[in-house]
Amino acid sequence: MTNPKEKQREYNRRFREKHKDQFMSASGVYGKEYIREAVARFRANNPEQNRFTNRMNKAKRRARLNNARVEKYIKKTNITNWGLGICGICGESLEGDYHIDHIIPLSGGGEHSASNLQLAHPICNRQKFTAIIIISRDDRTASNAGR
Ligand SMILES: [Zn+2]
Repeated sequence: MTNPKEKQREYNRRFREKHKDQFMSASGVYGKEYIREAVARFRANNPEQNRFTNRMNKAKRRARLNNARVEKYIKKTNITNWGLGICGICGESLEGDYHIDHIIPLSGGGEHSASNLQLAHPICNRQKFTAIIIISRDDRTASNAGR
């Protein structure tokens, strides 16, 4: 076995064999499926982190839809009221579920960055969103009336 490629292949084969449990899924498949299972396992074992990732992805998706500038890597500890346990909108105690709210609304030119993010009650977040829609609708009506 002088061919270096062959040698590498043989080495890889032995490596996979040796670390089987780490590369193979429960159903005995390598690769993609294994990764999917590993992610599912991580999520099940880390519900708090999973919730944060879900909420953050939702906020990020909203930002993209609004063509806002999106900061790529946001540490949760950099979010303005992270760890305080207080809703950023009503100021009351925040327990259980939360939404990630854009302090300066995306529709008002706010960006998706740590300094513009806060944790808020889902209900406060929704009320704020509704209020923004009503205000912008009123603005439109007012400017139309002026014409
Ligand atoms: Zn609140």
